[in-house]
Amino acid sequence: MFTIKGKTGDWELVIGLETHIEVLSNSKLFSGASADYNPSVAPNTQVSMVDVAMPGMLPVLNTYCVEQAIKMGLGLNAEISRHSSFARKQYFYPDLPQGYQISQPADVPPVVGRGWVEIMGDDGQPKKILIERAHLEQDAGKLKHDVHPTKSFADYNRTGVALLEIVTYLNTKDPDSNSYISSPDAAERYLREIREIARALGVSKANMEEGSMRADVNVSVRRVGEKTFRTRTETKNMVSFKFIKSAIEYEARRQIEIYENGGTVSQDTMRYHQDDGTTSVMRSKEDALDYRYFPDPDLLPLEISDEQIERIRRTMPELPSATRARYTADFGLSEYDAARLTENTDISRWFDTAVAGNAKRAKSIANWMISELFAHPENWDVKNEKSGIIDGMRIITPSDLSELVEMLSDNTINGKQAKEIFIKMLDGESGTPREIADKFGMKQMTDTGAIAAIIDEVIAANPSQVEQYKSGKVGLLGFFVGNVMKKTGGTANPAVVNEILRKKLA
Ligand code: ADP
Ligand code: MG
Repeated sequence: MFTIKGKTGDWELVIGLETHIEVLSNSKLFSGASADYNPSVAPNTQVSMVDVAMPGMLPVLNTYCVEQAIKMGLGLNAEISRHSSFARKQYFYPDLPQGYQISQPADVPPVVGRGWVEIMGDDGQPKKILIERAHLEQDAGKLKHDVHPTKSFADYNRTGVALLEIVTYLNTKDPDSNSYISSPDAAERYLREIREIARALGVSKANMEEGSMRADVNVSVRRVGEKTFRTRTETKNMVSFKFIKSAIEYEARRQIEIYENGGTVSQDTMRYHQDDGTTSVMRSKEDALDYRYFPDPDLLPLEISDEQIERIRRTMPELPSATRARYTADFGLSEYDAARLTENTDISRWFDTAVAGNAKRAKSIANWMISELFAHPENWDVKNEKSGIIDGMRIITPSDLSELVEMLSDNTINGKQAKEIFIKMLDGESGTPREIADKFGMKQMTDTGAIAAIIDEVIAANPSQVEQYKSGKVGLLGFFVGNVMKKTGGTANPAVVNEILRKKLA
């Protein structure tokens, strides 16, 4: 269990995330304006009369956005509501000219109900994080206060773009439930999982740097073993994994300190400061009354049919949790390795390609990917990796790695040579691993007679070490192995060397 040590004992963390992902769609949730508001687009060029709330304009629900929400709901293993509706959440701010946001507040059925997401828990085992709901709502525009000394500007390109807000569930009646996020790292794993599900389904780019994924972070603490949940705070609008983890940790420590000094935590909405990693109170928590929700009279109730859900279900690709299950069951990979290889669909696709037709080497291929390829970022398309999309490793291909592992497994080359070939490939050496091995005369020496002869030479040349070994200093075996390897130019099969050496020195 992840805990934080206080002055008076250990504390555990309770974390709830409200994750907003921007729905991929040609047009906005209630208007025909383009939803592709990327930064290179000039301000206010993708705005319809509906988005800026011209009198008499009526919203029309974009059914494609609803289908995207259903798809995501199925990816979250969630109930899809057959009857749903939209309501107005009143707030007056220039980034939303309507004066309210069309949303699905807690007391109307959201498109997506109760579900779950599987992540790797803090003990390395799979854990289900419960989802309370996911609802559709409108995004707001962007205000620009730094363009002019005395004026502010508003860009409404993003106004009205569909957001899907995914909220984790905390069962307050079951204090021992192990179904919520309970550490900063688990929060990151959860968000990455949401991101990968959304991307696999084509529901969202879910890219934090580009703002197509943002999260509100709810945190409370309690003493280890305590049977109730305590008051939480909510830190708004977080846009990086690193900041989210830092905000959770800072908030938890702040709350622990308050409790340990005899104080109480109030349910506030916090702001995170990137420069020093602290949080401060933005406002005290608003409640539903402040928003004066009421059903949107311009929109019909949203009815979703079983047929519609089934049609969407049939288009679903394999999702990361199913991929992980396949890797552990079919290839015998550990939960950890399976998790690393499904962090991203490009990675799992790469792995699947490397393993295709060579399933018996899947475990070695996985090991090489995780310990060697991941350690060499130059092999990845760095530019794309930054935006979260790795479109394949460019230098070493899946079939290269598969062939390398095969040569190693069938003793054509030894581990040292395999690493050398790997580095040569990274450095741009052309050709397949076999061609590179041929070109540089890399071949494992497996002829036991020849190896034995070299071993005899090494033994003859080092009588005092032989003496010491025989009188019990068995650690010297490595010294002999090293000398034999040196004499064979690193080409001998180390297992064979070890075996013959042991016999001859016995
Ligand atoms: P609101 O809409 O007022 O922000 P919600 O009930 O939707 O409130 O909860 C927001 C998030 O806070 C959810 O993910 C929920 O699981 C989480 N949450 C609720 N109570 C706690 C608590 N005591 N500690 C940590 N998280 C909590
Ligand atoms: Mg909230």
